[in-house]
Amino acid sequence: MLLILHPDIDNQSDAYKETLKYLQALPSVTIKEHVVQGQQQRLTELYLLGETKPLDAGEIEALPAVERVIRISEEYRILGRHHDDRRVSGFDYQGLRFDQDSLHVFAGLCAVDTPEHVEIMMKALAQQGQRCTRMGAYKPRTNPYAFQGHGKGCLPYVFELAGKHNIAAIAMEVTHESHIEEIDTCLEKCGRPTGVILQIGTRNTQNFELLKAIGRQQHYPALLKRGFGITLNESLNAAEYLASEGNTQVIFCLRGMKSDFGSPHRNMVDFAQIPAVKRLTRMPVCIDPSHSVGTREHSPDKVMDIAHATAQGVIAGANMVLVDFHPHPTKALVDGPQALLLDELPKFLEDIAISREAYERRRALWQ
Ligand code: PEP
Ligand code: MN
Repeated sequence: MLLILHPDIDNQSDAYKETLKYLQALPSVTIKEHVVQGQQQRLTELYLLGETKPLDAGEIEALPAVERVIRISEEYRILGRHHDDRRVSGFDYQGLRFDQDSLHVFAGLCAVDTPEHVEIMMKALAQQGQRCTRMGAYKPRTNPYAFQGHGKGCLPYVFELAGKHNIAAIAMEVTHESHIEEIDTCLEKCGRPTGVILQIGTRNTQNFELLKAIGRQQHYPALLKRGFGITLNESLNAAEYLASEGNTQVIFCLRGMKSDFGSPHRNMVDFAQIPAVKRLTRMPVCIDPSHSVGTREHSPDKVMDIAHATAQGVIAGANMVLVDFHPHPTKALVDGPQALLLDELPKFLEDIAISREAYERRRALWQ
């Protein structure tokens, strides 16, 4: 059972103390407090765990600090919506809002290769007014002899160039717990010119120890990719691992499913599940058209499949687009064939704006 307390409740107030006293006296029930700092207000949530079935929701709702009571299912206890449309979603990071209504584009390099390419990429983003990017330093590769990413060696120039070009947030995959500290140490040393969203790749969706480590820290938000060969439910449970350890700043990313049925695309695009994730959980939903489609092919209409898939996601309410670009895809060390070109960036962003407007109009239509 979840109790949402009155906004901005003071935990020294009589109302709070009286409520706590009542709850602490309940047999076989433990209380876990969770505070959500929103843009305008601070929300305190109390999770009642244990024998909550016999509890009378009406009686608890009448307690002085309680605004409302939600019966929660076992799944996605913290991140779940639990059929309550009023549950707030999202978080603020680096002056940017991430929730189920916002939309951010994270265009950038699949893998950092040279400082020159990083700079060209960030400059192009800045020219388009973009504040976010993706930059891979730690790359999980199928082949052990393939380029594994420059690791911590590239972090100083990536962060400094981000600061120079006013990039506020970088989505960066981490494949080991130690990478969190490497990123943190480097950002601190550079004077925190930018921010990092810790990306968990599809190969690590169920790496529970990595999830717990990212969940234990609350400094950096997390971007969790769905697992490419597991159910949506299993991937959402993986997201809950982050929240259960204390980090509720989680964005969920659809990136396609590995299946021969996806051919000729790299993966089977799964963006039709955006509304389902929004209904089941409070997480903002990201789409990755690059790793799901995986090709620059286009049909006779001249629109690349990646752009079509992006539009399909945005028109269905996606909140973030993670997409590979490269100044010279033939020189890219990872995933060059699916990278968009820098002169395609303005058109790609315009296409997203068109799709977003269509989403907003569609949404208004159905109210
Ligand atoms: C990536 O985004 O660089 C990546 C490796 O994606 P995924 O984990 O979805 O394969
Ligand atoms: Mn890639």
